[in-house]
Amino acid sequence: ISPIEQKRADVGPEPDDMFRAIRHDYPILGDVIYLDNAATSCSPEPVVEAMVEFEHRYRSNVGRGVHRFTRIATQRYWHAHEKVAEFIGAEEGVTVFTKNTTEAINMVAQGLTWTPGDRIVTTILEHHSNLLPWRSLEKQGVTLEIIGILPDYSLDMDEFRKALEKPVRLVAITQASNVLGNITPVQEIATLCREKGVLLLIDAAQAAPHMPVDVRTIGCDFYCFSGHKLGGPTGTGVLWMKKPNLIPLMEGGGTVESVTDEEVVLIQGYEQYEAGTPNISGGIGLGVAVDYLKKIGMDKIHEHEENLTNRLIDGLSAIERVRVYAPANPETRIGVVSFTIDGMHPHEVAQRLDDHDILVRSGFHCCQPLMSALNLPEGTVRVSIAHYNTREEIDLFLATLKEIISQ
Ligand code: PLP
Repeated sequence: ISPIEQKRADVGPEPDDMFRAIRHDYPILGDVIYLDNAATSCSPEPVVEAMVEFEHRYRSNVGRGVHRFTRIATQRYWHAHEKVAEFIGAEEGVTVFTKNTTEAINMVAQGLTWTPGDRIVTTILEHHSNLLPWRSLEKQGVTLEIIGILPDYSLDMDEFRKALEKPVRLVAITQASNVLGNITPVQEIATLCREKGVLLLIDAAQAAPHMPVDVRTIGCDFYCFSGHKLGGPTGTGVLWMKKPNLIPLMEGGGTVESVTDEEVVLIQGYEQYEAGTPNISGGIGLGVAVDYLKKIGMDKIHEHEENLTNRLIDGLSAIERVRVYAPANPETRIGVVSFTIDGMHPHEVAQRLDDHDILVRSGFHCCQPLMSALNLPEGTVRVSIAHYNTREEIDLFLATLKEIISQ
């Protein structure tokens, strides 16, 4: 080992000073170690300020009327859509604001027209939100095929290719698992789907907040994620669609160019899919959230989180009675790490950590079929990292867990 490598090893894997500095933007992090970012992450001050500014200075409706408040609100709400589209590399298509990922996926499931016999392929990794909307189509005669994973937690691509040998209407897949943290090969899957003329929906709820994403490079048809998992306000999410050919889930005010006795002409833009008064301050806040992440740099965020994840997994794996469920390759995982402790229920572990001001998730993480496949009847404890977490926090978490286990 060279002297510089030794020095790096002594210092640790990541000089995270920049990430330490941004913690000023998150006063909520003052009293706790927040490691439940996969459920929802914290909003930085600029996001909160943008929402308060809307309330204090120009609260009004959008797309209606000409007065000064509505002009500002409309312009900022519209601009937020542009920023989000840019964040995911969307140069074409329509970027619709939704309540969350769940609503975005349901809009696709309900907005396509299905014929009995249509096949959908999805995976065992999916969150209930990317499973139940498709299962609900079974009553229309649609069939669902679920691709499994291999012992290293990677997707069984042979099974996947085999599933695509017969006609498939749509593939719905997560870009990163909210239980195992594994990143799926969405680009390879997109190529297969394109070759076969299959629609591809990607659930990016766990990917978009943690790595550079680009719908152009992937080449998918639908891209769904939650604003509240990337520092945006709660009640915000996104559905990007390459072609605006979904039937809108709802109709009403704000969606139309004109209404006469003879016809209704819908607006050719996101407005068509956002009936009624939207979550205006939320949407504007979401625009600020993506600006905030972009300014730090998604590649830097990914690198920082990868270093923390490696430290976390190494530390957990070295603790007696702890079983970690994570892919071995750091390049195919995000900072979502599930584990169990022999002889302790996951809820008990989470409660004991909370007693030490450390907040993690426990249970099934809305992935019961995956839990059954992994034979984890009590679920897992899940630690999930965001860019504002630090090495000290990971070390403190590990030390506290050791203490809890030894008591
Ligand atoms: N998909 C994945 C992979 C998730 O992790 C989650 C939330 O944890 C969802 C979908 C649902 O997100 P939301 O509750 O914001 O709709």
